[in-house]
Amino acid sequence: MHRMTGGCHCGNIHFEMALPHAPETYNPRACDCDFCHKHGAAYVADPDGSLLIRLQDEHMVTRYRQGAGIADCLVCATCGVLVAIHYQDDQGEGRGFAVVNSRAVDGGVRFGESIPVSPKALTASEKVERWKRLWFQQVAILASA
Ligand SMILES: [Zn+2]
Repeated sequence: MHRMTGGCHCGNIHFEMALPHAPETYNPRACDCDFCHKHGAAYVADPDGSLLIRLQDEHMVTRYRQGAGIADCLVCATCGVLVAIHYQDDQGEGRGFAVVNSRAVDGGVRFGESIPVSPKALTASEKVERWKRLWFQQVAILASA
């Protein structure tokens, strides 16, 4: 496993992720929706990896919903960095799925070239199907306050 850390700028949102393959073999997905585009976000995840997100002050984390309005964009309310997107599957096992913004990974990690994607063209159920296929399935979000 390749382990790396990341988070927002002020340290309120911090994550540790493990990827089964070398970072340079991943092509971060640059979503072309207005929200992601304005953040310059490009996303990385692996269903066989794992993600642990720690929130220092949960009240200073904005869970912004846009698009289909079914996933939470985790944005630090203090420093404004878009760190990750989390989807809580309320059906079935009630599991969480998530993807991280590759731009929020701590320095020194080189990913492959970003590729443009356009999931906004998908229906809500197609999006959920996509997330379950591509995103981290081992996800924990811990809040200390
Ligand atoms: Zn912050």
